[in-house]
Amino acid sequence: KELTVDLGERSYPIYIGEGILQQIGELFAKHGIGKGSPLLIVTDSHVAEHHLGDVVSRLEEAGYTTTSYTVSAGEKSKSLSVLEDVVSAALQAGLDRKSTVVALGGGVVGDLAGFVAASYMRGIRFVQIPTTILAHDSSVGGKVAVNHPLAKNIIGAFHQPELVLYDTATLRTLPDREVKAGLSEMIKHGLIWDAEFTAWLEENAQKLVSLDQEALQYGLYFGCKVKSIVVSQDEKENGLRAILNLGHTIGHALEAVSGYNKLLHGEAISIGMVGAAKLAIRLGHPEHIYTVTKRILQAFGLPVSVPADLDTDAIMNAMMHDKKFSEGNMIYIIPTEIGKVEINKNVSAAWVREVVEQLKQEV
Ligand code: NAD
Ligand code: ZN
Repeated sequence: KELTVDLGERSYPIYIGEGILQQIGELFAKHGIGKGSPLLIVTDSHVAEHHLGDVVSRLEEAGYTTTSYTVSAGEKSKSLSVLEDVVSAALQAGLDRKSTVVALGGGVVGDLAGFVAASYMRGIRFVQIPTTILAHDSSVGGKVAVNHPLAKNIIGAFHQPELVLYDTATLRTLPDREVKAGLSEMIKHGLIWDAEFTAWLEENAQKLVSLDQEALQYGLYFGCKVKSIVVSQDEKENGLRAILNLGHTIGHALEAVSGYNKLLHGEAISIGMVGAAKLAIRLGHPEHIYTVTKRILQAFGLPVSVPADLDTDAIMNAMMHDKKFSEGNMIYIIPTEIGKVEINKNVSAAWVREVVEQLKQEV
């Protein structure tokens, strides 16, 4: 399956398929990745173990000069000090203005390597090879960043890739919990944009969780498509793009309060989406928004309740510090029916607190 992210001059294709990496050499050449300058492949320790050798040997066979740099797996690698290490590797490998950085991995590697590509010599080319389901989200839209100890994703840029190669065979080595967490963002893409796709997701929950290749390809295709439509209409995040934050206000707060080590991002936004659905009911939208949202997430084995040991005050404080907040009321992405959301700027903090409390009792 092939899909174009439509951004005028910065448009780029996403190839999705089982075994697509077998054609990596041809696809690179087809999309203008030259053989005269070295490539730098950035990956992490888990992905390197399973998939790096294959990518390197295919690129070398196709006539590319490659150097690889493997960072430790985990969010900690999205830091300025690791960025400096990757740039050192780029300099040692002799990367020049015509070189390309290849991100082989999940969102961590994509964000880090993408920011290297955005900043090295004021910007060089970049290819994404996503190896997680969550990365269907992070590989579309061109946001790249590293973290600062005081704030996530605060040092970054917009830098679009030349090309995205999504080989669904690489997902077979992904831990089950990461699979489900990634599917949570896919469900989000259904809930904000398309009722039919959302119904398809629910019907195919078992297939998706067990990595049925056909279902996975369709789900990733549609998820990327929704993200790309939203991003094409609002590349630099002035308005519409906010709808991608469904479930993220509560979700980010839960991640922050639990110290970023208890809940995966997709798990936190799963709980957040149930919260948004509860707020929707409170705002007078139909009850089934809540029952359907919860039923789908549970069909995927995703969590729907706030861990009881997380302090409600701490969660509320974390939300106040989040940027989606103005003048005593909170800006919330609220589902108005399945497949549709609104940006609501008048959600009272008191209602949110009530919902957080209720989410601790959720079963
Ligand atoms: P990740 O990159 O850390 O991957 C999750 C885990 O799975 C890691 O331990 C990794 O080593 C392992 N892994 C990855 N692929 C594997 C494979 N095929 N086989 C075995 N193990 C594998 O996390 P993620 O969930 O992919 O991405 C999260 C990051 O993405 C966060 O930093 C988040 O901020 C970022 N993000 C960015 C955007 C964006 O628009 N740029 C959007 C959403 C999320
Ligand atoms: Zn997210």
